[in-house]
Amino acid sequence: MSNKTFTMIKPDAVGNNYIGPILAKINEAGFRIVAMKYTKLSAELAGQFYAVHRERPFYKDLVSYMSSGPIVAAILEKDNAVEDFRKLIGATDPAKAAPGTIRNLFAKSIEANAVHGSDSDENAAIEGNFFFSGTERF
Ligand code: UDP
Ligand code: MG
Repeated sequence: MSNKTFTMIKPDAVGNNYIGPILAKINEAGFRIVAMKYTKLSAELAGQFYAVHRERPFYKDLVSYMSSGPIVAAILEKDNAVEDFRKLIGATDPAKAAPGTIRNLFAKSIEANAVHGSDSDENAAIEGNFFFSGTERF
C-alpha cells in the first residue's frame, strides 16, 4: 500500500475557475500536496502521458483536449492514496460519478472530467516522475 498518488486538474476545471474548490476538496479529504505545478501540455506531451490509451477511439480527442489549456499537476500524500483518491474523484463519466465526488461536482463530460487520478501505485510513480524531478519532490 502506497501513500502517494498523482493528479491533474484538467483544462475544463482550470478554465471554469475550479482550481480552488477542487484543491479544498482534496485537502478536506485528508490529502497533503507534496508537489504542485501550473503548466500546459503540448500535444506531444499529452500524447506521451496517455500513450497507454493510444489504441482507444477517444485517444486523439483526449490528446487535443488535454493540450487545449493550462492544467495543474500535483503529487498527493495520504495513507492508501491511490484507492482513496479514486473514490474521491468518482467514475470516469460524471453522469455516473457518485454524489459529492469531484467529478460529480465539477466535471462537464466523460472527456472533460475535471481531474485525473492514478490507477495504481506503479502508475502514480511513473506519472509523478513525468512532471516532477526528484529534487522538486519532498
Ligand atoms: N476518456 C474519454 N472517453 C472515454 C473514456 C475516457 O474521453 O470513453 C478520457 C477521460 O478524460 C478519462 C481519460 O480519457 O479521464 C482516461 O481514461 P480512463 O479510462 O483511464 O479513465 P480515468 O482513469 O481517468 O477514470
Ligand atoms: Mg485512467
